[in-house]
Amino acid sequence: MLESIKKMLQQLIGSSDDSSQAAKLEFYTLGKFNLGVGKIGPDNRTDIDQSTLKEMYRRVAVGEFNIPVSGTLPEICVDGRTNRQGTRINAPSAAGGSLTMVYGRDLGDSGALNDKTEMQLTIETMDVLKGKGLSTAVHGDDHSNCGCGACTHAQKVYQHITDKIDPIAGLAGNYGIVISDLEKASIVSKAKNRLDHPSFFSEDRSAIIQAAQDHGANYEELVDAHNELCIAINMRQGTTIDRKAIRATFGPQYDLFVVDAWTFATAAQELALENNKQDSDRIAKAITIQNVATASVLGHSSLPIIPIG
Ligand SMILES: [Zn+2]
Ligand SMILES: [Zn+2]
Repeated sequence: MLESIKKMLQQLIGSSDDSSQAAKLEFYTLGKFNLGVGKIGPDNRTDIDQSTLKEMYRRVAVGEFNIPVSGTLPEICVDGRTNRQGTRINAPSAAGGSLTMVYGRDLGDSGALNDKTEMQLTIETMDVLKGKGLSTAVHGDDHSNCGCGACTHAQKVYQHITDKIDPIAGLAGNYGIVISDLEKASIVSKAKNRLDHPSFFSEDRSAIIQAAQDHGANYEELVDAHNELCIAINMRQGTTIDRKAIRATFGPQYDLFVVDAWTFATAAQELALENNKQDSDRIAKAITIQNVATASVLGHSSLPIIPIG
């Protein structure tokens, strides 16, 4: 999967080092895929300089802000915000942090988890990862009961997956992650089943964050407003995007969502039953779909997608 994505990105970006080529880069937005029902995005901002923004996109795309990261699993949230000190845990990012593995496992499962609730799956997943000596993380913020959008809106994300599976899979496919009709149908039927039994979802959203912490997850308290101006889809193994350096370069109001998509296959392998490649493929696709759907629920149609190959 990784090689095909790399090839795809190289085609999109052109022969990488040519900066005049990069300067002309145009990026697809969520709206291009008929996605983006949320508010976060450049069209809703009045505090941004357009040429600075273009420069930020260009330099993010060529990997200028990629830094080495600890761990090979999605761990902290895509959220562009930081803690009060302006930093984040040094770990790969995905929608909801380690919760992406809970939802990916649920949506990509072959049926064995049907009787479990979101709370049970959260506890079980954190325990499994802790048992393997792997670190996990969740977050809140300083001004809400549950400050993680991926968690707060989990049910809405499942609904969005059932409503918009084709555009969601279309976006993923554009960046080299091809989701078959069979995989789409399976993931949608899992989501529908949960929506038909809404007691699956915990009513108190902060209880999910707390349960993850009680079962080993690290916790970040993020502060201030959402200032994300793009979604970086990072395919460079062993790296993430340096949020702090982007602020230092362009200004404190320049943030981005970071999706370290190179971790998804590894995450799925940790979650699938032993050596079942079909299961792990489907879980990796489910994690992808949960990430795209969350971006679409939180993000505005003007939010560009910046692939980093
Ligand atoms: Zn979050
Ligand atoms: Zn939450």
